[in-house]
Amino acid sequence: MSKQPPHDTARRLREFGVQVTAQRLAVLMAVRDQPHATAQDIAVVVRSEIGTISRQAVYDALGILADRGLIRRIQPSGSPARFEDRVGDNHHHLICRSCGRMVDVDCAVGETPCLTAADGMGYEIDEAEVIYWGRCPDCVARSRIRSENAAE
Ligand SMILES: [Zn+2]
Ligand SMILES: [Zn+2]
Ligand SMILES: [Zn+2]
Repeated sequence: MSKQPPHDTARRLREFGVQVTAQRLAVLMAVRDQPHATAQDIAVVVRSEIGTISRQAVYDALGILADRGLIRRIQPSGSPARFEDRVGDNHHHLICRSCGRMVDVDCAVGETPCLTAADGMGYEIDEAEVIYWGRCPDCVARSRIRSENAAE
């Protein structure tokens, strides 16, 4: 995957009204390179790019980028938040319960909210949060091998 030149990344920050700093640039690039990474994963990447950066500075940068809409924060229940730069479409995620791998899945409908509530209770609904939980192909294959071995 080719990295976008930093000046494009800087322009993107400015377009969203975010002041350009080396740390924010590095965080945005790291999210782009590693979609669905946790803040901790991103901190590791950013440190390898620009050297010392505190964990708090990474969290702050992620917070600002997410608040301004440059990145999306996905908060699966019971696990740390993940970040991605695929914003502006209503896609969903598949998460493996065994290994935690997360992948994108296009929304079958496209626009939000893609599910109709049985009863909207008068709320003006603008989003349905959809996460598909299950097991990834690798984990399914692994458990199949395990049970075949056990059967012998
Ligand atoms: Zn898995
Ligand atoms: Zn995604
Ligand atoms: Zn959908």
